[in-house]
Amino acid sequence: MNTLDYDYLYINGEWSAPSTPERIDVIGAATGKRVGSVPSSAHREVDYAVESAQRAFNDPEGWAAWSPTRRAAGLDALATALEAHASDIAYSVTVQNGMPINLARQLETGMPVATLRYFAGLIREQGDDNRRGYLGGDVRVLRQPIGVVAAIVPWNFPQTLAFTKLAPALAAGCTVVLKPSPETVLDSMVLARAITESGLPPGVVNIVPGGRSLGEYLVAHPGVDKVAFTGSTDTGRAIASVCGQLLRPVSLELGGRSAAIVLDDANMTDHLESFFGAALLNNGQCCYATTRVLAPESRYDEIVEQLTSFVSTLTVGDPLSPDTQVGPLTTARQRDRFESYLSMGIADGGKLTTGGSRPADLPEGWFVTPAVMADVNNSSRIAQEEVFGPVVTITSYSDENEAVRLANESNYGLGGTVWTADLDRGLAVARRVRTGTIGINGYIPDPAIPFGGVKDSGASREFGPEGLAAYTHLQSVHL
Ligand code: NAD
Repeated sequence: MNTLDYDYLYINGEWSAPSTPERIDVIGAATGKRVGSVPSSAHREVDYAVESAQRAFNDPEGWAAWSPTRRAAGLDALATALEAHASDIAYSVTVQNGMPINLARQLETGMPVATLRYFAGLIREQGDDNRRGYLGGDVRVLRQPIGVVAAIVPWNFPQTLAFTKLAPALAAGCTVVLKPSPETVLDSMVLARAITESGLPPGVVNIVPGGRSLGEYLVAHPGVDKVAFTGSTDTGRAIASVCGQLLRPVSLELGGRSAAIVLDDANMTDHLESFFGAALLNNGQCCYATTRVLAPESRYDEIVEQLTSFVSTLTVGDPLSPDTQVGPLTTARQRDRFESYLSMGIADGGKLTTGGSRPADLPEGWFVTPAVMADVNNSSRIAQEEVFGPVVTITSYSDENEAVRLANESNYGLGGTVWTADLDRGLAVARRVRTGTIGINGYIPDPAIPFGGVKDSGASREFGPEGLAAYTHLQSVHL
């Protein structure tokens, strides 16, 4: 296999040689071998990227000053340029993080394009906000762009998550410095090509590949006006405390361990495909995955049996094959984490009914067979902590009140599902679950609908008009 190696960094609308010889090697999830590399950014590149973003933002005729209609055309042009690179983006994502290629094609190119077009449409529609003061007088409330945004994203959906920030930030008139995760930097170089081709002005989007310490430097950089972060709860806390000291606005989209409440009238046979999408997408490395199944005592054995036989038939294999449903975990560290949670689950009384081993026919990379663990105590670590791998745990409950109580007995509150034959009953249960998003008989995020968490899952919303508002501040002009 040819490796994907890049020699230049994309800052200020051009490709330039890095200031140091340091490189980031990317190890393929399915092979355990180097699949490509990019130059690592140094502090000097971050300084240059932030200055470029500031210059682009402050240009009196630049991006922030463009009319919403003109900016919307810029977003549409970027969407079109991304579509032209769809297969390169999907391929890059899959060879890096092991996402099944069908999913990479659908989500990692489809979702960014849809998100750009959604926000382009939103700013085209937004009119002036003229108000009458309570004490009299006319006031125009302006939504002003916040400024330079530092966007920091993880490796599980590198493009989709970059665009949950880029699209609304650009739509609002902000400029961006994007720091991708070191595990998935190759797709960000394809993104840079699309940005160049889209004709966005120099400095509007700048990309600085790097790891944790570069992220720390960027978060605290004096030229940054807002931080938009997706990643783990621990990192979110660290970033939030820096931003708290600086009084710098910050969006936090963090971890989860979401419940799937199966009500006693649910016919899971009809919903197995949707269940897969909500619980096991991307090899179980999905922040909102609803992998904590709560099953009614009256039908417990049947549900354990159904989920076990479904999960045991999933096709595990080469993520580049369109037949693969479950690819490898992204890193050796993720596989160790998955295996250690399974061991803890068993030690705490859980029963592994399928999976959880390393497939003998896939000796390279970080493959595991998707697992189901029954009889899991909701207070055990495997139920309470984020595993971030393909394992469904099953816990029984006696009645609906207990199901809701168990769903809410979690520090997290990001996703969730309720499975039922009765929509009204599902809605009544859903509204009692303390979570930012919840689906009935399935869940798929949508660029028009607010997404985000409560409790340790974060303190913000992306997507929808609320996602745009996160990149603006209100200025009231009394006329
Ligand atoms: P992570 O927190 O380790 O890293 C995320 C990003 O932050 C990376 O780019 C990393 O380089 C950078 N980073 C790490 N420490 C930093 C610091 N101190 N300052 C600035 N930047 C720093 O997370 P991860 O392991 O890459 O991703 C998995 C996590 O992301 C899971 O917890 C998952 O639930 C979460 N996630 C959340 C959502 C959501 O929308 N809520 C979506 C996807 C993933």
